[in-house]
Amino acid sequence: MPSLLNPVIGLLMLRGVVTEAEPIAARMRRVRIEGDGLAGLDVRPGQQVRVLVGPGPTRRTYSLWRYDPFGAVELCVLDHAGAGPGAAWGRGVSVGAQVRLGRPEGSFTLRPDASHHVFVGEETASVAFGAMLAALPPEARISGCVETGTPADRLPLPHADRLDWPTRDERSLPDAVRRLAPEPGGVAYVAGEARTVQTVRRLLVRELGWDRRAVLTKPFWTPGRRGLE
Ligand SMILES: Cc1cc2nc3c(=O)[nH]c(=O)nc-3n(C[C@H](O)[C@H](O)[C@H](O)COP(=O)(O)OP(=O)(O)OC[C@H]3O[C@@H](n4cnc5c(N)ncnc54)[C@H](O)[C@@H]3O)c2cc1C
Repeated sequence: MPSLLNPVIGLLMLRGVVTEAEPIAARMRRVRIEGDGLAGLDVRPGQQVRVLVGPGPTRRTYSLWRYDPFGAVELCVLDHAGAGPGAAWGRGVSVGAQVRLGRPEGSFTLRPDASHHVFVGEETASVAFGAMLAALPPEARISGCVETGTPADRLPLPHADRLDWPTRDERSLPDAVRRLAPEPGGVAYVAGEARTVQTVRRLLVRELGWDRRAVLTKPFWTPGRRGLE
């Protein structure tokens, strides 16, 4: 209900309409939002937007899966078991729905000049990884681990064949990173559940010798907390 929104925030928000909403993986829906105000934005691969998911002024943050500078953003929303307002919005939103969202923001973004790129995260993180991977040329050095509940939860990522795809019951994300043992010298992008992000960062720095400045981290959610940003 827009009337509950702080009027300043309301004015600053962008508007769009859903033109596509369909499953992209077993528990993920891809939502395409189009609008004149969405054209020509300054977007870097890996950035996110805050979406008004209701009821009232409730907002949740979603990575940009794709950006079309002619005026469209695409998000992928996970239908997780905790089912808060974000997951409910992603599950229920349909073509024709009006959407209000903030401008793209965030510094968890691709470092295009890195000598190699290592991606570590789970389903929610894989959305940002998709945008980052799409911006890398075929000759880029790419590796990483993307953990999902089942193989059906995997997003169709560019360069997917260069990544490891452990399922949760098969191997924990830290164990998968240990096994991959990425060489220091590049940039690591680590996102997803907050405590796992911290564990993976420590592992890269303490066990594998990475410079902590080369490990970019972003907590996306944590059990028991609602909407981290
Ligand atoms: C920078 C950033 C980018 C993000 N990008 C994406 C994205 O591209 N796609 C996406 O789906 N989400 C993304 N998220 C997470 C998203 O913002 C919401 O936190 C998520 O949709 C849950 O919101 P909710 O309202 O359903 O649950 P909330 O009300 O926020 O949380 C309720 C409970 O559900 C549980 N929970 C929350 N998220 C998960 C989860 N992923 N898996 C299992 N249990 C969970 C927790 O126990 C939590 O306490 C991103 C978050 C950030 C900060």
